[in-house]
Formats: sequence, C-alpha cells, structure tokens
Amino acid sequence: MRLVLLGAPGSGKGTQATRLREHLQVPHISTGELLRAAVAAGTSLGLQAKAVMAAGNLVSDAIVLGMLEERLTQPDTRNGFILDGYPRNLAQANALDALLTKIDQPMDIAVQLDVDQDLLVDRLAGRAKAEGRADDSPEAVRNRLKVYEEQTAPVVDFYRNQGKLAHLDGVGSLDEVFNRILEAISPHADVG
Ligand code: ADP
Repeated sequence: MRLVLLGAPGSGKGTQATRLREHLQVPHISTGELLRAAVAAGTSLGLQAKAVMAAGNLVSDAIVLGMLEERLTQPDTRNGFILDGYPRNLAQANALDALLTKIDQPMDIAVQLDVDQDLLVDRLAGRAKAEGRADDSPEAVRNRLKVYEEQTAPVVDFYRNQGKLAHLDGVGSLDEVFNRILEAISPHADVG
C-alpha cells in the first residue's frame, strides 16, 4: 500500500508512521529525517538545508524532490511505502503525482491527522524539551506552524479532489489514533 500522512508539525505523523511500518511491513519515508541525516552527515545537500530547516522554512522543492526520487526508486518500496513530511506545498504534490505516475505506483490514500493548533503548540513544546531539535525553538515552531497553514494545508484539498483523502481526528491516545488510521486504510490494505 502507498500511503501519505498529512498533518501539521506535532500532529503525530512520525509516531504513527513508525507503528504503521511495523503493521504494513513497508518502509517509512520521512523527508524531514532524510534531511536531518544529510545535515548530520555534512553532505553538500545537508549544508544547503541546515539553516533553512533551523528557521522552520521549507527546503527548496528541487532538493527535496531529488532526494525523494532517489529513495522511492529503491527496491524496498516495491510493495508500498508510508510517506511523511512530503508533499508540503502544491508544487510538491504535483511533482509527486508525476513521479508516481512515471514509476507506475500511484498513491492509494492520503491520511490527514487533524489536531487543534493549541494542542500542537503544547506537544511541540514538550518534544522540544525531550529531543532538543534545532527547529524546536519557540520562533521556529511558530514559523513551522505558519508555513504549514499557508503552504501545506492546500495539499489536503489536492488529495480530497482526487477522492483519496481520509480526514481523521488526530486527538486521542496513540492506540486510538492508530486504530482510526487502520480503519481508514483497511479498504486499501493487502496486509493486516
Ligand atoms: P515537522 O513536521 O515536525 O515540521 P519534519 O521532520 O517533517 O518535521 O520536517 C522538518 C523540517 O525539514 C521542515 O521544517 C523543513 O525545513 C524540512 N522539510 C521536511 N520535509 C520537507 C519538504 N517536503 N519540503 C521542504 N522542506 C522539508
């Protein structure tokens, strides 16, 4: 199954993706994690992305698309994947559509985790203490939420217009949200 998780920073995409990976036995592809790995490795791509990410802005579409294309054409994605953190704007949504059409692997479903803004701010503040990510400073968090509203929220309509959107309540225990996702994806699941 090819699945994309949509939702604001702090909506729980990464946590749920990890569980889904175990359940569906397909890779979890997080563009944020791929970028953080490039930054940590000090590659030229990482050097270009570092300051942009720390400020909570989007890395250039061309850089992220190149990175994603490389990942999606690896053999472990043949049975599907869980995409997290991409697409983040309409240009990326169109580029992904074209890429998946080219490799004959169209997206099956987009799962949106809806979480109220106040709760997002609380969750991100909690995570900042626990993880100390460079982009978890209060200013960067505010900016990430603004970038989400302005650029990423329209991506939800992109999938809704294709009839692929499952809009879910992202508030609840990890198990509750996970079970909502399983229910939403069950018509597409060939595992579990
Ligand atoms: P969060 O969803 O909590 O903001 P991510 O790990 O998904 O965390 O992303 C962290 C940062 O990585 C983003 O703020 C952005 O700078 C960069 N990034 C991740 N995915 C993309 C993307 N698809 N396009 C552009 N930048 C991205």
